[in-house]
Amino acid sequence: MARLHDKVAIVTGAASGIGERTARLFAEEGARVVAADINEPHAGVLAVRADVADPASVEELVATTKERFGRIDVLAHFAGITNDGRAEKMTLVQWDAVLRVNLTGTFLIAQAVVREMSAQGGGSIVLASSRSYLGNFGQANYAASKGGVVSLTRTLALEFGRYKVRVNALAPGFIETPMTAVLSEKLRAKAIEGTPLRRAGKPEDVAQAALFLASDESAFITGIVLAVDGGRTTGTAPA
Ligand code: NAP
Repeated sequence: MARLHDKVAIVTGAASGIGERTARLFAEEGARVVAADINEPHAGVLAVRADVADPASVEELVATTKERFGRIDVLAHFAGITNDGRAEKMTLVQWDAVLRVNLTGTFLIAQAVVREMSAQGGGSIVLASSRSYLGNFGQANYAASKGGVVSLTRTLALEFGRYKVRVNALAPGFIETPMTAVLSEKLRAKAIEGTPLRRAGKPEDVAQAALFLASDESAFITGIVLAVDGGRTTGTAPA
């Protein structure tokens, strides 16, 4: 039996990288996937242009999903942005933009989806934190937003448990996607060097972890932050 047989799943960030791979994997595993992104997504049975930082757009995404499929069993939320810079030079525009999409956007979509999930008797929400939540040079805005996602995940898990809605987060390390393609070869090499498994991650690695947390295989797991980082959080691999 497919691991998401008959489930209705919204996947955000589905036009690129991890979200796109997740949307395709969920569809392969039997889900009816609503692929959402600020750009045109090409995966899923239903592709929706949506801005997760805009409450009206989020409400529309949820309403469209309900109209088409009548329910929402899974949210895998991968829409996110970076806008890096040293904290001393970071503008308020840079700060606000990243916090708005990564943290406020996560709150908005989780809040909208849980209303449907609680009314129908349960669901699974998978959010995107990042290993950067531990602190990352040049990413004050991004790290703070991803730390916020960890706190939000834990709080929502506490609040929504009574509705049988599970809320978990992934904390990927360095994953090769358009988001990280802009980083220098030096940074990439350094990330791999510090990773015990000695490679960069692939969108597939994160998509498989999202599949586990989305599916009933993780039925008694809520409030966790699952590192998908080749062991990097455990420590630095020796040279
Ligand atoms: P990606 O390739 O840039 O994909 C993210 C997608 O989200 C893009 O299509 C992006 O559009 C879209 N998006 C941006 N703002 C949006 C909004 N307001 N509403 C809807 N969609 C929006 O990034 P990725 O590497 O797959 O990352 C996916 C998630 O994993 C992100 O939350 C990221 O922070 C997290 N993550 C990634 C890594 C990594 O190493 N790649 C590591 C840890 C965590 P634009 O391209 O137009 O911005």
